[in-house]
Amino acid sequence: MEIAQLVLGGRRTASLEGKTFEVIEPAMDRPFYEVAEADVEDVDNAVQLAYQTFEQGSWSRLSATARGRVLLKAATLIRERLEQLAVLEARNAGKPIRDARDEVGLAANVFEYWGGAANKIFGETIPVQDAGLEVTLREPVGVCALITPWNFPLVIASWKIAPALACGNTVVVKPAQLTPLTTLALADILMEAGLPEGVISVLPGPGAKVGNALVSHPLVAKVSFTGSTEVGSNIMRLCADNITRVSLELGGKAANIVFDDADVQRCINASVYAVFGNCGQDCCARSRILVQRSIYEQFTEQFAARTALLRVGQPLDEQSEVGPLISAGQRRRAQDYLALGQREGARVVAGGAVPPDAGGGYFLQPAVLAGVDNGMRVAQEEIFGPVVCIIPFESEEEAIRLANDTPYGLSGSVWTQNLGRALRVAKAVRAGVLSVNSNHSVHTEAPFGGYKRSGFGREMGMHAAQLYTEVKSIFFSEE
Ligand code: NAD
Repeated sequence: MEIAQLVLGGRRTASLEGKTFEVIEPAMDRPFYEVAEADVEDVDNAVQLAYQTFEQGSWSRLSATARGRVLLKAATLIRERLEQLAVLEARNAGKPIRDARDEVGLAANVFEYWGGAANKIFGETIPVQDAGLEVTLREPVGVCALITPWNFPLVIASWKIAPALACGNTVVVKPAQLTPLTTLALADILMEAGLPEGVISVLPGPGAKVGNALVSHPLVAKVSFTGSTEVGSNIMRLCADNITRVSLELGGKAANIVFDDADVQRCINASVYAVFGNCGQDCCARSRILVQRSIYEQFTEQFAARTALLRVGQPLDEQSEVGPLISAGQRRRAQDYLALGQREGARVVAGGAVPPDAGGGYFLQPAVLAGVDNGMRVAQEEIFGPVVCIIPFESEEEAIRLANDTPYGLSGSVWTQNLGRALRVAKAVRAGVLSVNSNHSVHTEAPFGGYKRSGFGREMGMHAAQLYTEVKSIFFSEE
């Protein structure tokens, strides 16, 4: 089996102890790569190197335009290797190949955006009362620890690495242990694009050990984490010890609010993908569909029928729309929630079975739960699998109340032809990212992040520059 070594300062190398672990192909339930497993000493090495490189200035003091050029070159290289990266991502994360291609394209867009943005991150002049000139500088924060989950490995790594590098930081990346391959490949691409040595390290390994050591390291200036709310909360606690800057993108339980004046057919076609895309393993998954009572039965029937048409299949099959879950454990979790929902009084109106031709893969037919009350655990907890809850509401006020009645606040959608209502509801929903008459709420150019227990800080768009820069204020006296 091929061995993927870790990346230390841009160079591929074995871990200090020489340990490796197996990466599984979830559609097959079989290992297809061996990956170097980092340990606490590797973390210390990588952070020390990132710190020295930052201080020495080969990247942090390079002109912003020159930094941008490296990122633009990386975008070109990602596009040139799109198919190769897409196949790697599809096999490792179990994604349909068509989705994997889109995601690699998105990663290229993100590097292109930040390549162009690098020399447009600047401070201000401020009219103060004292005689002189007050200016602010936007400076890189230093070593950034970037920790990513397994559901969108390359995309989320790009959301963090591109702005952190554009701002002049050095980075140590900890990809999810289940899906480290495309992040390792991305580091190679960045080196080929001209990133100086020492600027990037990628350390695969267990979160509790490698992630913990990274977050706790005193030379790490900033932690950017995407993952579960539980781990995010632990990370925030660890960051408190060293006053390390932290931003958190965590879980979600998004509401998809459908009023009786919506274009129901368009809504249903979009909404099946809004929840079952990536097999439901998406922090933005619209996993609670709130439907106005007058169209509830008709909507539920049509939604269930449309769900049954989704093509569940092998990631490399061009026809597949839904692949396997990431692991046997993740599938069991979804199945347990389906059983719980039924005990709570909901009914399964589509899916929920393991397809007969699943082989060893962790496949599950996308499932629709009807008759759900928003107070049920299936409606309150993030399932992170192909399960949707359809919940009735009577009025606009009730829709808003139900949408907000969850600990999370990441994303959501509103479907209505009434512009005033769309605006009122969008303003009232406590979530960071919303869409109206669309399921698209993630855009390279626009801020992305959560309210409440979905975390804080905004990635993407120019807002992300705030995560990776310090503001310095300097006063020049006229006297
Ligand atoms: P996870 O929290 O288990 O792991 C995320 C990352 O943190 C992994 O790299 C993991 O190895 C690492 N980690 C685990 N324990 C750690 C520790 N103690 N210290 C430091 N690092 C540690 O999440 P997951 O299962 O990989 O991903 C699924 C979760 O991520 C879901 O809850 C989902 O909603 C969330 N998510 C959120 C967003 C968003 O942008 N809001 C995007 C994708 C996924």
